[in-house]
Amino acid sequence: MTEEICATDAYLRSCDATVVAVSDEGVVLDRTVFYARGGGQPGDTGILRWDGGEARVADTVKQAGEVLHVLEGSAPGVGTRVIAEIDWERRHTLMRTHTALHALSGIVFRDYGAKVTGGNMEPGVARMDFELEAISQEFGREVEDKLNAALAQDHPVDVSFLPRAEALADPDLIRTKVNLIPEHVDPIRVIDLEGLDRQADGGTHVRSTSEVGRVRVAKTESKGKGFKRMRIELVDAG
Ligand SMILES: [Zn+2]
Repeated sequence: MTEEICATDAYLRSCDATVVAVSDEGVVLDRTVFYARGGGQPGDTGILRWDGGEARVADTVKQAGEVLHVLEGSAPGVGTRVIAEIDWERRHTLMRTHTALHALSGIVFRDYGAKVTGGNMEPGVARMDFELEAISQEFGREVEDKLNAALAQDHPVDVSFLPRAEALADPDLIRTKVNLIPEHVDPIRVIDLEGLDRQADGGTHVRSTSEVGRVRVAKTESKGKGFKRMRIELVDAG
């Protein structure tokens, strides 16, 4: 199994690694700073460099539990020592975007009692779906104000790993459907925007909410009964 460094240190931009498998689809390393697409967050892009060569990483995905670096161009052979480096600006924008979504879900639950039913993001833009009865532009502006106030309060973002039994007994985590995580996952990774939002999550986030900057609610729309969507954007997409 690949050591996934971004699970414990989202700020590391590059690492040394050894190629452990190569296929038509991509390259598996013994350790990596690349985030594999999942939980609504896109996979990282970047570059692998080795003695006498390099290749762009166009995407990173999970395949049979392994982190697969999808390359443009020819791959290094098994056993090659490489330096793996992510496109940091893109990743950092995703970390800010992802953290903004946590703050949004925390506020909408705290003040309106609505749960999240889905979400997705690209660097600097994202959408989140809520079990809300109604939505309007006024509602969007109200949430935008609350969101920016909360982000500016600079809540620390804490990453921890909880034993599965403990996570399943936690009311915050039950709300975000921790019980749907496959049974073999133990411990469970928990992201805590202290005082704002707490959920089981595999993605990458910034260290504190002020690093997100300001956020705009770009669109509110109804997709059906109890199915309302908000689109948000980072004001400074970096
Ligand atoms: Zn997250």
